[in-house]
Amino acid sequence: MATIEFSHVRFGATDSTCIVAFQKALISRGHRIPSGPTGLYGEETKAACAAFQRAQGWSGSGADGLPGPQTLARLSLSDGGHRSGGSGGRIASPVPGYRISHRYGASGPYTAGYHTGDDYAAPTGTPVVAVRDGTIAWSNGDGGSYGNWVCLRADNGRDYLYCHLSRREVGKGDRVKAGDRLGRVGSTGNTTGPHLHFEDRPRGGGYGQDRDPSW
Ligand SMILES: [Zn+2]
Repeated sequence: MATIEFSHVRFGATDSTCIVAFQKALISRGHRIPSGPTGLYGEETKAACAAFQRAQGWSGSGADGLPGPQTLARLSLSDGGHRSGGSGGRIASPVPGYRISHRYGASGPYTAGYHTGDDYAAPTGTPVVAVRDGTIAWSNGDGGSYGNWVCLRADNGRDYLYCHLSRREVGKGDRVKAGDRLGRVGSTGNTTGPHLHFEDRPRGGGYGQDRDPSW
């Protein structure tokens, strides 16, 4: 696995990718950053991080507004490419810190006549993570209009498809835990911009056998 650079998410730093993802993860958990996800780790972000840490039940140096590995893990952000445990809570989003930008079921010029997954618009390179424990059923560049894609065969009997990736960071047969990074958002295949197309099919199901994604 490649190393991700959350180690430089530090007070006073500026970064348009990792710090923005960190800020969006805090905001998505209800912690206000008045200026929004600017990429500057200033006092507002420090205060939001401290509030998040207190909400975990931490205090003292554990709630100083400066993220360590535990804070990043709780935010579903990787630290050094690894997450501790795997026994944590539900994964909020397959693209931590990002919400659905285009919903399942929308009508449009799709072969199935409707949008067969949820889209998460995010910058190229944004991490995508396993939504549940499972095994990688495939990971290749043979997705056609789906480009680079990874299939997570999850412990609930569902196949979760991660499409249009710029990078794949798992291989067929790999066992993964919820929250483990699978790859990066991209725009391979047929897209108009970088996003994750995330699809939920029954185990072994084909195109059009999808459901509104849940996990
Ligand atoms: Zn889509």
